[in-house]
Amino acid sequence: MAVKKRRKAPAVENEIINLTNVSKAYSTGAPALKDVNLHISRGEFVFIVGDSGSGKSTLIKLLLRELTISSGYINVMGYDLSKIKHRKIPKFRRNLGIVFQDFRLLKDRNVYENVAFAQRIIQKSNKEIKKNVPSILAIVGLAGKYKAKPRQLSGGEQQRVALARALVNQPTILLADEPTGNLDPKNSWEIMKLLEQINENGTTVIVVTHNREIVNAMQKRVVTLRRGVIIRDEEKGGYIDED
Ligand code: ADP
Ligand code: MG
Repeated sequence: MAVKKRRKAPAVENEIINLTNVSKAYSTGAPALKDVNLHISRGEFVFIVGDSGSGKSTLIKLLLRELTISSGYINVMGYDLSKIKHRKIPKFRRNLGIVFQDFRLLKDRNVYENVAFAQRIIQKSNKEIKKNVPSILAIVGLAGKYKAKPRQLSGGEQQRVALARALVNQPTILLADEPTGNLDPKNSWEIMKLLEQINENGTTVIVVTHNREIVNAMQKRVVTLRRGVIIRDEEKGGYIDED
């Protein structure tokens, strides 16, 4: 008779993300993540840092269930992601917001439509869309630009549209993979301050970044990856100087 495994008690209070002994190997090359243990509580703000190729984007893709783990255990918002049925993935992703370095906006649609699109996917009524989109555009400081097409906006403005699109469905977790990678220092700070504000309103925020100055200044939890291994995980941490 099979012995039913007892579910492990959460390692942290109010756990929303649990990676236990997670490894991820692609079909080629060395494993991208090796024996990663990461526990994140609801409402945390976490920076993920590390050199290029250290596994940061792989980690984000595992959290989105864009990729599956090779071994270990991964649970996000109560969903066991190695067991989740395909038909349940859209429902799972509804609770996630995602922002990328390259904005990924619909180029032939204006700002309003780019944000409304996210609401249409989850079948919000027009009435709700007309209420929610202007309200989120005001939060990211783009109320006056709702008719502009992406090419008429600066990089910083485009990233704020992407952020509005990620937030309009009120995600439980916001994931950002190098959101300031294409921005100048001023716009980078503005995006990071918005992410901080979103976190203060209760959203769990996970930000991959290379921005040493911002990480050191913001005094948040910092998880450092090196060649697929978490080599440091510190509250109010900083960016490690490579030796
Ligand atoms: P980072 O985001 O920290 O730069 P990635 O997670 O993108 O790192 O990549 C981690 C490692 O996995 C790298 O060695 C990279 O070359 C490899 N890798 C990433 N994506 C793939 C893929 N689709 N196929 C094979 N190897 C990959
Ligand atoms: Mg990456």
